[in-house]
Amino acid sequence: MYAAGDVRIENVPDARLIEPNDALVTVTRAAICGSDLWPYRTMEHSDGGRRMGHEFIGVVEAVGADVRTVKAGDLVVSPFLWSDGTCVFCREGLHTSCLHGGRYGFDDVDGGQGEAVRVPQADGTLVVLPVGRDDALMPSLLTLSDVMGTGHHAALAAETGPGKTAAVVGDGAVGLCGVIAAKRLGAERIIILGRHPDRIALATAFGATDVVSERGDEAVERVRELTGGFGAHSVLECVGLAGSTRTALEIARPGGAIGRVGLPQEEVIPEALPTFFGNLTISGGPAPVRAYIEELLPDVLEGRIEPGRVFDRVGPLDEVPDGYRAMNERGAIKALIEF
Ligand SMILES: [Zn+2]
Repeated sequence: MYAAGDVRIENVPDARLIEPNDALVTVTRAAICGSDLWPYRTMEHSDGGRRMGHEFIGVVEAVGADVRTVKAGDLVVSPFLWSDGTCVFCREGLHTSCLHGGRYGFDDVDGGQGEAVRVPQADGTLVVLPVGRDDALMPSLLTLSDVMGTGHHAALAAETGPGKTAAVVGDGAVGLCGVIAAKRLGAERIIILGRHPDRIALATAFGATDVVSERGDEAVERVRELTGGFGAHSVLECVGLAGSTRTALEIARPGGAIGRVGLPQEEVIPEALPTFFGNLTISGGPAPVRAYIEELLPDVLEGRIEPGRVFDRVGPLDEVPDGYRAMNERGAIKALIEF
């Protein structure tokens, strides 16, 4: 990406092993993330450009001398961050705070929207998939790199559980995966806040029981009507804008919890007094998806959840710039890249 709206496919030096804990992975599937759209809308021009992509599945080509858990020929999925799996935070399941971790596309590490990636900390990062490289489950398996784990994180942070009402703010890929996660964790009722007919249809297929298409104060009113005047026990904030955050805080019932996974676009969390007097828990953050892959993988392999249905656009690497354009114009929910 060279600037807002300027994504190009370029030839770059081949990815290669550098550190003894690296794996070299040939990418077989990758995705464009909603978070990639923030730089797509705002990035200042850069002469050198920026490597993009952090959601991918691929085949291990080679590993460094210290790598033990993956080997050449393995099909692997990577979480959207790399992490060692052994530091104090990784052992607590908070791989996003890994002391030796980092991001794809920065500091000599390749981006996932490309043919090959050097994966640092391969043992702590990569998870071997027990399927062939073109298995029909590939779209759902790819969501374990980010959006399904992020939806799950929102549901956990919002304390979703049996008998509870969950409300999901946002009908993008993460919000839709949040619906799957809320249902999976036993929510009795799931309210989706969104207004795009195709996305609402998918949310309903995933388990949403109620749809609120209003926005702002009207949306808050509608959720209260649906919940006996109280609001939802669990609110999954999957957008990050000021308006969506305010709505999320206003539709939580006293004693409820808000799980925030939308990257905040504002410095301040609103509604300090109402959330204080309501004893609301405001939780969430970047999802430690590496901690969730093993838990969610059996549900994908056995067909209990189908998060891959969020991909409504598939194309080769050449179509990545069009994929960004389509997602930015909301003509596509999420784009899958096949190699
Ligand atoms: Zn760590």
